[in-house]
Amino acid sequence: MCGIIGFNGFTRASPVLLEGIINLEYRGYDSVGMATVDNGVISVKKGVGKIADVHARINFDSLKGAMGVSHSRWATHGGVTEANCHPHFSSDQKIAVVHNGIIENYAEVKKSLEKKGRKFRSQTDTEVIPMLIEEEFKRTKDLQKAVRSALLQLRGSYAIIVVSTLEPGKMIVARQDSPLLIGYAQDGMFAASDVTAFSKYTNKVVFLKDGQLAVLYKDKADFFDLKSGKPVIETPKKIDVN
Ligand code: GLU
Repeated sequence: MCGIIGFNGFTRASPVLLEGIINLEYRGYDSVGMATVDNGVISVKKGVGKIADVHARINFDSLKGAMGVSHSRWATHGGVTEANCHPHFSSDQKIAVVHNGIIENYAEVKKSLEKKGRKFRSQTDTEVIPMLIEEEFKRTKDLQKAVRSALLQLRGSYAIIVVSTLEPGKMIVARQDSPLLIGYAQDGMFAASDVTAFSKYTNKVVFLKDGQLAVLYKDKADFFDLKSGKPVIETPKKIDVN
């Protein structure tokens, strides 16, 4: 277990993400990271250890921008090192991904991407996701399509949140066998592993289903079936956050 949170909103993302990832601490973790998108650049900070200690060292609050992601990692593939902390990036640094779960066929995907010249920076299974999205974006020129076709090539469990400077207003999320819910707040849209990450801001949520992908804008979300790519209707419900 571990936690992810994403925010695409009208206010600064880093304090909201920090608060959210702290609220997910109970799930267990060994390291923490955050990335935000601002003015066409993704900035990232990450470190091994307790969130409070890492924050005291590197100050997550200094990350600028109104969209971002944060992750508390429970290492499954690759040691507990800073290089293995999420978010992970495409080779051009234009796509960042946080991931909960395990990509079972990562070794073969990694091998075939390395043959195409991709240089990996970590030992994680996760890093194949942004690298594969980058590869698919070259072909599709569309972030949503690129995320979808990347995921269709991967086996395993995941809840992912993707941000990119290629299409800066969008946050793309998807799940398979790992929890992820979408929150509708006054100040923006959330995605997280658990409602406790954002319950201070809203109790209006959609529980993403396995095999679904959603595109989050600042004030709405569109839902799709991952296999067919077709839109699906999901209506937010108010839940009792206690
Ligand atoms: N399998 C990934 C890793 O080892 C994600 C682990 C997690 O869910 O935190 O980095």
